[in-house]
Amino acid sequence: MVTLVAVSDAPKKGGTSSSEKISASETVPGPILLLGAPGSGKGTQGKSMAASWGIPQISTGDILRENRARGTALGKAAEKLMGEGKLAPDDLVNKMVAERLAQPDTARGFVLDGYPRTLPQAEWLERSLAQRADAQRVDGQAETTVPALAAIAVNIRVSYTELLRRITGRRNCPTCHRIYNVYLKPPQVDTVCDVDGTPLVARADDVETVFEERMRVYDAQTAPVVEHYRAGDRFIEVDGERPADEVAAAITAGIERFRTEERLRNLF
Ligand SMILES: [Zn+2]
Repeated sequence: MVTLVAVSDAPKKGGTSSSEKISASETVPGPILLLGAPGSGKGTQGKSMAASWGIPQISTGDILRENRARGTALGKAAEKLMGEGKLAPDDLVNKMVAERLAQPDTARGFVLDGYPRTLPQAEWLERSLAQRADAQRVDGQAETTVPALAAIAVNIRVSYTELLRRITGRRNCPTCHRIYNVYLKPPQVDTVCDVDGTPLVARADDVETVFEERMRVYDAQTAPVVEHYRAGDRFIEVDGERPADEVAAAITAGIERFRTEERLRNLF
């Protein structure tokens, strides 16, 4: 975690009572939207951010699975559509996200992983977060817990060629479940497992045709979401081809910078 001297000094200069209740050494991350193409490392980065800040990582895939497992009305509706080979529509996904964001563990922030995936979802989320901020002000929660924070969008940028290698090069060992990549992390001998010599296999959806279709959907639906946030004033873009720990450090530094600036603005 990055230490920011300016923050720890700021409250002494004349903070108000509400600002003094905010710990000077601890950044409240608030809502974070993690964007990036399939294979960009969103899941890994989301997990690491959630762990380092103690906030939930929320993916629509997990919410969907959870709703189906609990047999909720939303889960049943989603199951019916998916049984027909359809994607869950925006309004259904939005409702499930709204329910999840209403849980108390999201108070200090959350990482949304793979959502919003479309422009209508992004617009809905912005309205929803604005209502949440209004509700906090009415409750007076902003005084006692954290000021309502606007979402920071983080885009993990990875080139098409690298995404293709990451996804179509993936092989796993059916015996010990180790994961290899024929381009990036090849086994020592041919295409057999280093540990037990079992021939490695590829998953059916890691083939190039499936990757191309996923990228086509991403370019059509989600790339405009990235451009939408890029045009806003809380957007961070990181080079996702660097090692995972460097990507994590760059994301943390970017979020700390935005939240520190906001905190300083609120003090004066
Ligand atoms: Zn093995």
